[in-house]
This record gives sequence, structure tokens and C-alpha cells, in this order.
Amino acid sequence: LAKERGRACLQRFDAPMRDHLLDRLELVSDLRHAEEEGQLLLHYQPLFGARSRRLRGCEALVRWQHPSRGLVGPTRFIPAAEETGLIVPIGTWVLNEALRQMRAWLDAWPDAGSEAVPDAVIPAGIAAGPGAGPGGKGLFVAVNLSVRQLNEPRLVETVQALLERWRLPASVLCLELTESSLMAEPDHCVAVLSRLRDLGVTLAIDDFGTGYSSLAYLRDLPVSKLKIDRSFVASMQNDHSGRNIVAAIRTLAREFGMETVAEGVETEAQYQALRLIGCDMVQGFHLARPGPAEAMEVFLSGGIP
Ligand code: C2E
Ligand code: MG
Ligand code: MG
Ligand code: MG
Repeated sequence: LAKERGRACLQRFDAPMRDHLLDRLELVSDLRHAEEEGQLLLHYQPLFGARSRRLRGCEALVRWQHPSRGLVGPTRFIPAAEETGLIVPIGTWVLNEALRQMRAWLDAWPDAGSEAVPDAVIPAGIAAGPGAGPGGKGLFVAVNLSVRQLNEPRLVETVQALLERWRLPASVLCLELTESSLMAEPDHCVAVLSRLRDLGVTLAIDDFGTGYSSLAYLRDLPVSKLKIDRSFVASMQNDHSGRNIVAAIRTLAREFGMETVAEGVETEAQYQALRLIGCDMVQGFHLARPGPAEAMEVFLSGGIP
């Protein structure tokens, strides 16, 4: 009886499990060709000054136009790309494409992003001016970097070569790393991030608050932005503790000379609360959803959400 029941269970659970695995295998084998087949594309989500509501920059978010599955989001293929190492060529493609787009935008809107300077925190000792670290003038594009890319020996040279290729100052590029990815090999991370920072690239910690980095480590990271995870922004509505956490992160960031970006801003109430707390930048569906490059034009022209 137990055997029969066992078989019944296997039949119930095996087919979906098998389908899931086959589906994943197929996705990974398709992913190997996605880049060369021209199936990858970027959407951009604007980041606004919290006080001015003016455009400061944008985040490039990769999508995969799959021939039969339609538009596939990064949460469905980035983990597999990281496991297989495909993230390295895909990540290089993302960097190149984001910088190519940035070159085109800056040619058409040379002053874009420079109006919101009063929002910026400029730490003592850092001169303001085009490309001057946090709060520096000018539009930036944020690109997500996976830990596999950070471990790639040629990363810094690749970044430098792509900036030169598109004749861009390093300050237009912000690289986002998740807090958890920075905890893997702290010494190595600090070394690579310092080289990127020395190039003039800006660095941000993504999904901040969800990892467990020590304050001493955080202080030593050459990072200029903290992106407050959207779970904290979401919890501001319901309870005071959510609001207090955001305020505490904001205070900590300022202490370390970093700007704060609130992600996942979905309501006007959240936006107003973040503004009162003194977050520097806001990003979220309430202000603008990620969209194709053309959707950025209204904000590049000075429009406010
Ligand atoms: P992330 O870097 O934290 O990016 C923000 C994600 O939150 C995006 O999802 C964005 O669409 C979503 N989002 C923005 N505003 C809101 C909001 O108001 N509410 C809610 N609920 N969500 C919001 P997306 O595009 O699906 O990207 C998911 C993750 O995939 C990214 O999280 C990032 O970790 C990763 N990713 C995206 N592009 C790349 C890439 O080029 N390379 C790497 N390594 N990872 C990438
Ligand atoms: Mg990000
Ligand atoms: Mg994020
Ligand atoms: Mg996030």
C-alpha cells in the first residue's frame, strides 16, 4: 500500500518537477544565444531628486525578448546566468548598451540631470562640478553588477574601455551591488571597488538593509549611495518602526557621507514621508515605471512626474 501511495505521490509531484527542470534547462540553453541573437534589451527607470522631483539619473534593467516566451524579466534569468557564468558576457553587454544610450542622451540633452543639484549632499572635501562624486552635476546611469562580475579579473579594464569607447566621464556611471554580494569576500570587494572609485565611477549598495554588513565594513566601503530596500519603504505605511528604520538608514548614510535612494516608492504618502525624512533620491512606480529608452525623454526634457 505504501508503495502504491509512494508511486501516486511520485506521479503527482514528479511530472511538474520534471517539467520545471526541463523548462529551466531550455531557458539556460536559450540564454547562451540570447546576446548574440540580439534578444537582450534594457529598460530604464528614472531616479528623481526627492525635493525637486527632477530627474537625476536612471537605472538600467535588463530584459530578454524571448522568441516564444515573450518579454522575460531579470528575476527569471539572472540567477541562472549567475550560476552558469553567462552573467559575465551579459553584464558586459548591459554596460556597453547603457553607456551607448547615455552617450546618445547626453548628445541630445547636454544639461539633463544638472538641475537638481540643491538636493545633493556634497561631503566636505569633495569639489562640486561635473562628475564630482555624490551630488555632482549631471545625469547618471546605474547598472547592476553581480558578484561574478566583481570577481572577473578584467572588470575594471572593461569598464574603463567602455567609458572611453563612448567618450564618457566615469562619473556618468553608477554601479549597483547588493549588500549580500558585498559580504562574500570583503577584502576583495574593497580592493575592486576602490579601483572603480579611483576611475571616477560611483558605487551604490542595492537592497540595503536586507543583508548583515557590519557598520565598520560599511564605513570602509568606497560607496556613495545607499539604496534602501523597498520592503522598508513598503512598511512605512503601516507602522512607525518602518518609518524609523528608513530614518535611521538616512542618518547613518549622512554620517558616512553617502546619499540615500528610496526604492519601490508606490504611493504619494510614501513619497511625502521619504521627503520629510530627507532621502536624497526616490525611485518607484509612483513616480515612473521602468520603460524603453524613449519613455525617458519627457524627463530628460525637464518634465517632472
Ligand atoms: P533591483 O536592482 O533592486 O531593481 C529594482 C527592481 O524593482 C526592478 O525590477 C524594478 O522594476 C522594480 N521596481 C521599481 N520600482 C518599483 C516599485 O515601485 N514597486 C515594486 N514592487 N517594484 C519596483 P526588475 O527590473 O524585475 O529587476 C529585478 C532585479 O534584477 C533587479 O533588482 C536586479 O537585482 C536584477 N537585475 C536587473 N537588471 C540587471 C542586470 O543588468 N544585471 C544584473 N546582474 N542584475 C540585474
Ligand atoms: Mg538595482
Ligand atoms: Mg534595488
Ligand atoms: Mg530591490
